[in-house]
Order: sequence, then C-alpha cells, then structure tokens
Amino acid sequence: MEDWLLLSLLPAAAASGWYAARSHYTRLYFVGHSHSLRQAYCRGLNYLLSEKTDKAIDAFADLLANDFETIETHIALGNLFRRRGELEKAIEIHEKLIEQGKLSQQQRDNAQYELGLDYLRAGLFDRAESIFQNLIDHEAWRKGSLQQLLQIYQHEKDWRKAAECTRHLHDMGKVPRGETVAQFLCELAEETLSSGRKEEAWQYLEEALRGDSKCVRASLLSAKLRMREGRFEDALQSLKHVESQNPAYIPEIIEPLLICHEHLEKSAGELLGYLGYLYETYGFESAAVALAERIRSEQGAGKAIERLQRVLDYRPSLKVLNSLTGLLLEDAAELPKEALIRMDRALGRMNADASRYRCSQCGFSGTELNWRCPSCRHWESTKPL
Ligand SMILES: [Zn+2]
Repeated sequence: MEDWLLLSLLPAAAASGWYAARSHYTRLYFVGHSHSLRQAYCRGLNYLLSEKTDKAIDAFADLLANDFETIETHIALGNLFRRRGELEKAIEIHEKLIEQGKLSQQQRDNAQYELGLDYLRAGLFDRAESIFQNLIDHEAWRKGSLQQLLQIYQHEKDWRKAAECTRHLHDMGKVPRGETVAQFLCELAEETLSSGRKEEAWQYLEEALRGDSKCVRASLLSAKLRMREGRFEDALQSLKHVESQNPAYIPEIIEPLLICHEHLEKSAGELLGYLGYLYETYGFESAAVALAERIRSEQGAGKAIERLQRVLDYRPSLKVLNSLTGLLLEDAAELPKEALIRMDRALGRMNADASRYRCSQCGFSGTELNWRCPSCRHWESTKPL
C-alpha cells in the first residue's frame, strides 16, 4: 500500500520540491529493505522526480530483477505515466513487468489489465481487445474486462459483440453508460436495413422487443419498416405502442402517424380524437400543432385558429405561435398581412434553429434525435423537448 501512496503523491511531490519529497517518501518506503536496494530505489526516484523518466524506467527495471516486492510499485508507476498521457512509457513499464517470469497469477493479471488500459488509451484497440478477452476468464478481472471490451466494440461499431458483452454485464450488475442489448440490436437492424436485408432487420427488431419490451427505438423502426412495406395498419399499432413504452418519445410518432392515417383513409374523427388525447394528457406542442392542421383541413382555418389560441393561452410556445401565424395568413384577408408575413418568417427561422432534443445526462441539446448522446456517449438519454 505504501508504494501506491508514494506514487499517487508523486505529482504533488514534484510540485513541492523534489528534495523534500525524496527524503520523506524514501523514509516511508525503506523500512525493512536492504541497503543496496534502498540505493537503487532512491536512484530511480531521483530520476523520476527530476523528470528524467527514461533513466527512471531503467533504474526501476533493474530493481525489479532483484526485488519482487516492488511489483505493485511498477504497476503504479506505469499507471502514473498513463494518467499523465505518457503512454509509451506506461506500455514499456507494464510490458517489462509481464516479461518477468516470477510473477504470481494475480500479479500477472493485474499487469495485463493495466497494459490493456494503456493500449486502449493509445488507440491500439486490437491489442487491448486480445488482452481483455483473455482476462474475462479470470473471475477477479471479468467485470472490468467486459466493461473495457464493451467500450472497444462500441468504438468499432461491432454491435453484435457489444450486445454479447452487455448481456454478460447485465447478468453481473450495472453497465457503465446505459447500454442495452436492445439498442445494439437496433443498430444491427438499421445496418442490415440500409444494405437491403429486410428479413434480417426484422429478426433483430423482434429480438430487441422480446428482450426489452420498452425499447422505443425498436417500435419506431418497426413502424418505419412496415410503412415501407405498405402495412400501414400494423405500422400504426407499432407507433401507438410507444405511449406505453415511454411517453417522452411521443413527439416522434406524430409525423408517421399522420402519414399512416392518410394512407388508410381513416375517419378524421379518430385521428383528431387521438391527437387531442395526446395533447391533453402529455402537453406536447407537436401534438397540438398536428391537431390544428387536421382541424384546418376538416373544418377550416377559423376553427384551427380558435384551437391554437386556446393552446397558446394555456401553454405559450414558439412552435404553436408559428403555426398560428401561418393559419392567420391563410385565413385573414383584412389583417395587416405584411406585418404577419414578416412575423411568420422570423418565427419560422427561430423555430428551425431551436433545439428539439436534450440529453438528460449531460444537457447536450440539438436538432436531431441521437440514440447515443454525441457528448457524454450515454445511450437513450436524449429526449424530445
Ligand atoms: Zn449526454
């Protein structure tokens, strides 16, 4: 433990003057070590504190050959270099350590794990992957290795392997950033869909929903696929399913919902009723605007204006105001049209620039729905506003 303490304090030691630090930490370390080892250790520490890191590495490597009690110190030293971004040095130290034949299994695994982290940080994903793959069979390193592998596979967009890691991690407890198997299956579905393999895409979507009945993305993708196949009634069912899965995503279903209704030539009353219900229950402005548009085409702009004015009184919103100005332009011949046109144009611009989605984990907002936040890399944390 003293070794760890010593190394974790090294940056502070360097800042506060190496000489004082050296005498303090060498005292701390050298109870019970032989004189020659003490000297060798001091030499290494001096090099380190005076920033002669190459010499320090050599000195510590010599020390290692003679004193295996310093293994933890070496691991910590390598970690220190990694934290400072000096990855070549970190790799060199951890590799040298592993080359030593006298390590216990636990020490070897520990050094391997740290070397894997060095490789990962250096962007050497293949090497990191093979280390963590070997370590997952070792109980003590299994969880950590799976977590590292999960990051590697997501980086490489190997969704199949990412799903496999997530399954194991879910069995063991927590996953780091909200990863779910269903999200990875949806990635695979989108991938296969874009290369025209529809049957395969269906299999992934069904598997996603079987494993996670709350997966909104799988429902939205199913609806999209069914619409492409001309199965609008089935698509409608997938879209309506979203409400019971996670109502936060309701704004995403409005547009495809309107398209399905149009193709099915359903009664206007049914759609008006459903949109009205969504607005009254959840208060999404997109539902109010879609409702007003339907009212306009069924009952005329006057009725739609009345409705939107009530919505505005209740919950002022840029999007609703923008929709209202559009309707006023269409309906009111005697109103000062020039002013309205300019107002409509300005509001339209403001509306186009406004954020539509926000990440609940880090607050990142934007105009697109990202299933994985581009800022904090959390899955399914971005919700419509
Ligand atoms: Zn985020």
